[in-house]
Amino acid sequence: MHNCNLEVATSGIEFTEFLELIASKSKLETSRTTNQNLILATPEDAHGLQADLIILAGCDVDSWSMKAPKTPWIDSEARIKLGLHNTDLPIRRGRHHLRHLLNAAKTVVIFDTTADEGCGPSAPLAEWLGDLRLEGTITKYSEIPPFIAETEYLQKYPNRAWHLVSRQSGEEMWLTPRPYSMVIDSGIARGQRSGNRGRDSKQRLGLAIVGGWDEQGTPAHLGTIAVAHEEKIQADRFARQPIFSNLEDGETIAWKDRKVMLSSDAILLRPTKNLVKTGGRTEAEWPTLGFKTGRSKTPAIDPRPLPPAEIKKSDINQYIGAKTTKIEVEKWSASRLQAWIKCPREAWMKSHLRAGVEEAQSEDLDNRIRGTIIHDCEGAILESHGVEIGGPAMSKSISLAKGPVATQAKAWEAVLGYLSENVPWLARSDAVAVHRTRDLLGISTSTWNQYLDGSISLPLSGRLGRLVAADLALEDVAPIACEWFCKAKDSDSVIIDASDDSSKKKLFKLAGRIDRVDEVILPPHLRTKAIQSGLLCDGKEDMKPLSLDFDKPCGPAKRWIIIRDLKSLEGPKPGEAGDRHRRAIFDEIQLGVYARAWEILNPGDRVVGVGVSEVGEDTIHYVDIDSDLRDYLVELSIGEIFENCQIHHRNLGEGDSPKSSAFRAWMSERIRTSARAVTAAETGMVNPTPSDKNCKYCLVKSSCPVASIVGGDD
Ligand code: SF4
Repeated sequence: MHNCNLEVATSGIEFTEFLELIASKSKLETSRTTNQNLILATPEDAHGLQADLIILAGCDVDSWSMKAPKTPWIDSEARIKLGLHNTDLPIRRGRHHLRHLLNAAKTVVIFDTTADEGCGPSAPLAEWLGDLRLEGTITKYSEIPPFIAETEYLQKYPNRAWHLVSRQSGEEMWLTPRPYSMVIDSGIARGQRSGNRGRDSKQRLGLAIVGGWDEQGTPAHLGTIAVAHEEKIQADRFARQPIFSNLEDGETIAWKDRKVMLSSDAILLRPTKNLVKTGGRTEAEWPTLGFKTGRSKTPAIDPRPLPPAEIKKSDINQYIGAKTTKIEVEKWSASRLQAWIKCPREAWMKSHLRAGVEEAQSEDLDNRIRGTIIHDCEGAILESHGVEIGGPAMSKSISLAKGPVATQAKAWEAVLGYLSENVPWLARSDAVAVHRTRDLLGISTSTWNQYLDGSISLPLSGRLGRLVAADLALEDVAPIACEWFCKAKDSDSVIIDASDDSSKKKLFKLAGRIDRVDEVILPPHLRTKAIQSGLLCDGKEDMKPLSLDFDKPCGPAKRWIIIRDLKSLEGPKPGEAGDRHRRAIFDEIQLGVYARAWEILNPGDRVVGVGVSEVGEDTIHYVDIDSDLRDYLVELSIGEIFENCQIHHRNLGEGDSPKSSAFRAWMSERIRTSARAVTAAETGMVNPTPSDKNCKYCLVKSSCPVASIVGGDD
């Protein structure tokens, strides 16, 4: 290595990369099919050769086909006319080749598949065997080849790879392969791997370890024994974890029960619009994992990442994900945090070990392109308004309707201008362009080409047209940032001031980009009222980031802010509008961590709403607001308003008559959940969290024995 100027690998990943490098630079001659002493050939290719030993294997009807080859473009009638219809020619040739092979060596071993109903011997071999049977001379061919030792077939050797079987009465015993057999051991039937090769004994040992019977040998690695038992251990935990069907009406799954949970499938993390209406903010115990109400359940406060099973004083812990190598992540992104929350094992294997299979790209790619176009078109509208894409937030707060893009027509112009300059492939006539033009603009590609020629103008239509209309309808907000980087000055990230489950500070670095940030513009009478109530101030002085602690008043804010995330989606199907937004509130951490990042990086700003803008058949800007400010916000045109957090969240340590802002408690909870994921990585907890939905699409499921527990290994 020194001579090659290579460093010694100090980590697993470096070592893997090193091996990949060696493999990519090495060229080895392949000698798999021929060498001096062995020729692997078809009967036709072996014609004329002589050998000491010939083994006729794979001479069954499928592998040694006697079908006449088809002559392209000539039908049977023409073939007969031209004398090309020789259906028996391959058989005649086959007989000839077989005769030669039977006489070309002193010892000929034939694998006879007559006993295999689905795949008998090919016609020449079947004929020859049939003739021998008729003549009554077949038994002389049952001799055991001299190179097969007695230990390989006599009954007294339990691991024998062959056994002697009689096919027809009166016939000799025939040597027959015995790859696997059933044995009775202490009155119990069990499978037995036969054979004396290295891999046979390893497989026999593996079966014995799993089945719990005695076998001699040494496993390849002690960890393999532990891994072999993981599924059983985890399945046992899964069977014991609390579930709602075992509870009485009104009973709760307590927060402490997260310690015995393997999967989060049992609790409700993505409530429907009906189930979200009941929450546990005023329950005696908080947080809870939900309580039973009649035949349904209430949403849980997110307990993930779930802690691993810890088996006392056992080395097995490091193999089932409880104590592995500590993982240092310099800065976290929202998606990486989410991956660790969802399943630490998948996140670890995929992002740190890079052990996932390649992601199949097809429709997904198309959807990603659509998503990028929609984000960019939103960017084009906001840029025309004066917002710098990826730049600092605007200090002037003007709604779209009162700015340079005051009308739908002007915003539409910005969108069309962006598309004509940056998406040239829309003008093509292939299927993708036809579909996308119809979907995004509601027109055909020929109409789009006419627009590009300047021969027509285009009215507002399609998915993007509805996005423009929805943007202009947000009359009481001023867009102030787009694709805004969450990073402090002279840094590439921001430090999030999270607390852990025991309310101890747990800081972590976050980097990411917020799709869109709006400032709420209050009508003058409400603004005056908010200032008089100490909720807003003129904000000339330097301020600190507003507090998230419920026992310290939040204090007056300079600005009220809404954080938005644009999501392009199919449909949505009837009744599913708003589901994506609700998922972002209860199941995902992105909006919560971005909200806090904004407050930290813009001292004095108070985030009063967060939401997903669902850009589907229609565009709806959903926004979950801080209910403490509902009197100010609820009548404003800031999007479709929800107050999902109000009945679910309170701060840690509060009693059943909470005073905290439920919205700010939700924000604390989201960053606390993120901090839990950071701690899991730092302490090397890479336990699996199987879930019906996740495991099915998991890129490392083939290496995870736990997927089968929830049926995710299909
Ligand atoms: S298969 Fe399931 S449990 Fe295993 S790593 Fe993937 S998501 Fe996690």
